Amino acid sequence: MTIIHNLGFPRIGARRELKFALESYWKGESSQEQLLAVGAQLRSTHWQQQSALDWVPVGDFSFYDQVLDMSFTLGNLPERVQDFHGASLDNYFRVARGRSAPSEAGHACCAGVAAGEMTKWFDTNYHYIVPEFSASTTFELDASRLLEQLNEARAQGVRAKPVIIGPVTYLALGKAKDDSNRLELLERLLPVYAQLLNALAAEGVQWVQVDEPILVTDLEASWQQALRQSYQYLQRCPLRILLASYFGALLDNKALAAQLPVAGLHVDACSNRDDAQQLIDLLPADKVLSLGVISGRNVWKSDLHATLDWLEPLAQRLGERLWLAPSCSLLHVPVDLDSEHQLDAEVKSWLAFARQKLHELQILGQALNHGRASVQAELTANAAALAARRNSPRVHRPEVQAAVAAITPAMGQRNRPYAQRAPLQAAHLQLPAYPTTTIGSFPQTADIRRTRSDFKAGRIDSSTYESAMRAEIARCVREQEALGLDVLVHGEAERNDMVEYFGEQLQGYAFSQSGWVQSYGSRCVKPPILFGDIARPQAMTVQWICHAQSLTSKPMKGMLTGPVTLLNWSFVRDDQPRSTTCKQLALAIREEVLDLEKAGIRIIQIDEAALREGLPLRKSLWQEYLSWAIDSFRICANGVQDRTQIHTHMCYSEFNDIIAAIAQMDADVITIETSRSDMELLDAFEHFEYPNEIGPGVYDIHSPNIPTQEHMVHLMQQAARRIPAQRLWVNPDCGLKTRQWSEVIPALQAMVSAAASLRQSMD
Ligand code: GLN
Ligand code: ZN
Repeated sequence: MTIIHNLGFPRIGARRELKFALESYWKGESSQEQLLAVGAQLRSTHWQQQSALDWVPVGDFSFYDQVLDMSFTLGNLPERVQDFHGASLDNYFRVARGRSAPSEAGHACCAGVAAGEMTKWFDTNYHYIVPEFSASTTFELDASRLLEQLNEARAQGVRAKPVIIGPVTYLALGKAKDDSNRLELLERLLPVYAQLLNALAAEGVQWVQVDEPILVTDLEASWQQALRQSYQYLQRCPLRILLASYFGALLDNKALAAQLPVAGLHVDACSNRDDAQQLIDLLPADKVLSLGVISGRNVWKSDLHATLDWLEPLAQRLGERLWLAPSCSLLHVPVDLDSEHQLDAEVKSWLAFARQKLHELQILGQALNHGRASVQAELTANAAALAARRNSPRVHRPEVQAAVAAITPAMGQRNRPYAQRAPLQAAHLQLPAYPTTTIGSFPQTADIRRTRSDFKAGRIDSSTYESAMRAEIARCVREQEALGLDVLVHGEAERNDMVEYFGEQLQGYAFSQSGWVQSYGSRCVKPPILFGDIARPQAMTVQWICHAQSLTSKPMKGMLTGPVTLLNWSFVRDDQPRSTTCKQLALAIREEVLDLEKAGIRIIQIDEAALREGLPLRKSLWQEYLSWAIDSFRICANGVQDRTQIHTHMCYSEFNDIIAAIAQMDADVITIETSRSDMELLDAFEHFEYPNEIGPGVYDIHSPNIPTQEHMVHLMQQAARRIPAQRLWVNPDCGLKTRQWSEVIPALQAMVSAAASLRQSMD
């Protein structure tokens, strides 16, 4: 009998119940009991929805983040919150976000604290709270959360398999604040893990899922050794460990993983089936092998027939030892396709969200255990949906495929190198030294949001909408003129989101109503679904930008989202390589770039905010990704005349390892986030001589604080030590849409004055 199970279920709720409950608690509008009740209700619903499984995950529910949960389970709390006397959930929120509910602020000990650092969970768009370590870190078990949820599950008849993060991944994801070697903490950590496993065993737990996704990354010998040491130590615990790896293939860690003394191993069999196949031969004959055969990362129906063709001989061979699951936790997909009532019906028939994916798993289990005939109707329906998708003219547009095939290297190449373009652009643009600009968006007021949603819902007609947007653009231009900025923007009032705005106007994209995926804490994103060949039926931004340009004689930037960012922030098709999809997006954006240029726009900014996050987990795969990603950017940007200036923007600060690739994009100007790091990140530019112009952000737009002129001058002076002043721009870190006008005006005033004083000090 093949066993079916799940690694984790989305906790936010099909209607984002957890988000609303959390935010209401944090505002002081509801009690902790109410919040706890919503949590219990969600867990119970989710367990019911997984009741067809042989093993159901418990402990995957979290009020904020599963890594932070683990820190609390292990008693690893940052020192700054250790004197807290209130409810532990409040302390948990203090670490998560700097503060909890307002009632909690009344405690003398409980004013706001620095929130824990947040970073991306492997190569997903989920963000976890980074565990903090130092040489003196100690651990102390607090199993209460897990045991309570376990009892709750038992009471509801759930076949519970508790889920925890493994010790090596836990250490690897954290940061030592004092430069100590966090691996040295392993000896202190393992006894606490053993206590935890013993406590679970004492409750009668048979299987525990221990997540070690670190196994799909490049591991130094010391980390490999830590894995061996950990599982040798933990094998004494009287329960069975299912060691789970996900988000990629094991590759060179395969033999290591196969030999760890655990009862079972879960691997991602979606990303690299050959790798999983090879593992089978390495695995000792007493171990369970759990194959992640349903992708936990995309929204497409699986090919059940093809999966069964692969699995049937394996099931014969492995018998009871074969388990099936999604490739990773379903945290990374929306909850329920059945709640979509407005999604394009044809596209909808090709999709599967979390609940539908579990249903697929159930069909596979049935087919293996009782023969394909026992689920004939389901298999036939699945095959029909896949065939419809394969043959749909909405997916395949021969003219788009022909255009991609016809891409030539010349299309990604400017006519002259930067050094020869720069004087042409200078003559065309007439800018002062240290030119000032912003990254694109201006504050999105409640008025703007309302106008957009009224228009979407049909409450106002298009001419009312357009005049409201034009008025907003005019306001934005007026403010920028008054501030004395050198290169203006139209302010992006018409955009709700930098990906969705373009997706809505491109053919090949569909949108869900409630396809939310947790990004961090209570925050969710709703990635658009890229299902087909991409075409641009008409210009997407030209009328807005031209209107803005007509209101000023200063250069107005045309503002676009780049192909790599459109790709990385969408659910993309799985029936062709990502690189092909990216090239299609590049061609569509290229048309827009050329239309803007034709309309007289002199500067075009193409944002690639998400370029870095598409980097594969394995370094050996970086070059391939960077090569097609950079090519795509070049194709979209570099068809312009030499006097047209191309800008790009990236909002993160780790550049060291990809700086050469970024230089190859050959954008005339790159604006980046730097203000928080005191220009430290410009170190990358010291070792690598970046050839073009740079605008290192001097205004931290993530903070309500207004930077002073002196501070910004100081930051620019730091920058001028590494980059010649003639190639520097002065701008904020990122777009201003989340700020208030009352913050933005004084901050930009100070920024413009800072530029003026820098110019003076040049002569
Ligand atoms: N142009 C966009 C804006 O200003 C860029 C946003 C981003 O980089 N995330 O809002
Ligand atoms: Zn940005």
